Amino acid sequence: MTENYEELLDRALEQIPKTISESSRFQIPEAEVTTIGNRTIIKNLKNIATTLNREPSHLMKYLLRELGAAGDMHGAQAVFQGKFSKNTVDERIRRYAEEFVLCRECGKPDTKLERKERIYILRCEACGARTSVRGI
Ligand SMILES: [Zn+2]
Repeated sequence: MTENYEELLDRALEQIPKTISESSRFQIPEAEVTTIGNRTIIKNLKNIATTLNREPSHLMKYLLRELGAAGDMHGAQAVFQGKFSKNTVDERIRRYAEEFVLCRECGKPDTKLERKERIYILRCEACGARTSVRGI
């Protein structure tokens, strides 16, 4: 009986269209990290940025600064000088999302980052909140 109910529930949940607006279900993407020699490669940097609806170059700039490392984008991948664990990278991506993607008021990821001269504004399309964020 319980199993049937759970199966039904699973099926019902699968049928709910997955849009980015369902913030409770929004998952910050995880990095695919490989280290080769003394370099760390994030294979899916571009995908992460796309999921977060941000420019890959913006996320890249943030990571370079937060990791204190030199690096470059190579297509969809990012290559950093130095060794960084997946945990370290994921933690930075989570902080990036909290600071530059998720709305401070409602927590939803449907936001836009707008630049007004030297100030960046995080504008939420779900609740209309506007918060200033630091430039990177
Ligand atoms: Zn909001």
